[in-house]
Amino acid sequence: MTKVLKGGCLIDGNGSLPVENAVIVIEEERIKEVGCADSIEIPEGAEVVDMTGKTIMPGMIDCHVHIGSGGEASSELQNLKELIPYKALKATTHAKKALDAGVTALRDMGEVGYIDVAVKKAITAGLYAGPRLMVSGHGLSITGGHGDAHFIPEVQVTSKVGVVDGADAARKAAREQIKHGADVLKLCATGGVMSEGTEPGAQQLTYEEMKAAIDEFKKLGKASAAHAQGTQGIKEAIRAGISSIEHGFFLDEEAIQMMLDRDVYLVPTLTAVHGIVTHGVEAGIPEYAVNKARKAQEAHIDSFKRAKAAGVKIAMGTDAGTPFNYHGENAQELALMVKAGMSEMEAIVATTKTAAELLQMEKDIGTIEKGKYADVIAVEGSPLDDITLLENVEFVMKGGEMV
Ligand SMILES: [Zn+2]
Repeated sequence: MTKVLKGGCLIDGNGSLPVENAVIVIEEERIKEVGCADSIEIPEGAEVVDMTGKTIMPGMIDCHVHIGSGGEASSELQNLKELIPYKALKATTHAKKALDAGVTALRDMGEVGYIDVAVKKAITAGLYAGPRLMVSGHGLSITGGHGDAHFIPEVQVTSKVGVVDGADAARKAAREQIKHGADVLKLCATGGVMSEGTEPGAQQLTYEEMKAAIDEFKKLGKASAAHAQGTQGIKEAIRAGISSIEHGFFLDEEAIQMMLDRDVYLVPTLTAVHGIVTHGVEAGIPEYAVNKARKAQEAHIDSFKRAKAAGVKIAMGTDAGTPFNYHGENAQELALMVKAGMSEMEAIVATTKTAAELLQMEKDIGTIEKGKYADVIAVEGSPLDDITLLENVEFVMKGGEMV
């Protein structure tokens, strides 16, 4: 079945000027032709959808989510009581919410029980509707680190699966993630906001531990991402060969230069910090988390601005699942990136083309071009005038199928 989207204003994801009165011809799941209406013939018998008055662009890509978490203020005790299959069921609804909001691809940055792998398989098999998923399984963390829940020693929790000490343990855990279906490696290079007793500024995994794990993924051509907030942890992750720095609270000039030299992406997740700071302890978020987020926010935004000015590649990520950071509200991140100094077009490119490159899926998604999957969204009006329009996406198509 051939479908045609006709008459809207096209933003193709490359950052080039929008095309008025565009036509996109879609055959099966891919784009067959795209361009201005007077240059393209509409095939006979095609199903034509009138897009007049709308802006058409590639489906959004969120490079940092946790689909098993639902934006709860605090999930520590819940994590002890919630069955993993229940978490997986919740995750399928979270994935659907993201898809309905125009997010046609997600990168999950760490789950318990490999629920991200399972949800990806269920979506691929057609059991559930959801975005394309790139998954990491368990993130790797040191004992007492950002990925190690802090309970009394007698309490054993499943998240211990990713807890490693020493290069051999890190290598083994990385191999296990690959064995169970991880597309990308997630490491905790530093402490974090939501983990009690850790310092965002302090390094956790050592260079040797990170290098051993990253190398296992590299052998397969797979990327790696580091939760990295403090300067030293960021630099050691880059030296160890990381593909992207997640959060990047405290970037100094040397760290920015290293990212440029080694083509390392920044996934800022401004929404996560914003959600914690604006809701605060009153909303039930643990005090230690609120304090750490407040302390880091100014430096975080400043790091974002300097990285952007220097030309570091920035890919959109929200950390959806963290407190009050709901799946389906992913497009908030674009408004925050614009507020922090990106143009509307730059924020869109970070959420489409650049994000697809980070996911190593640029041959298939990220721009509206001939041969790519027809992952297309549309909004009334122009997001170049008002980026928040992307928070109300009206039309979603994934692989040629209207959602
Ligand atoms: Zn995260």
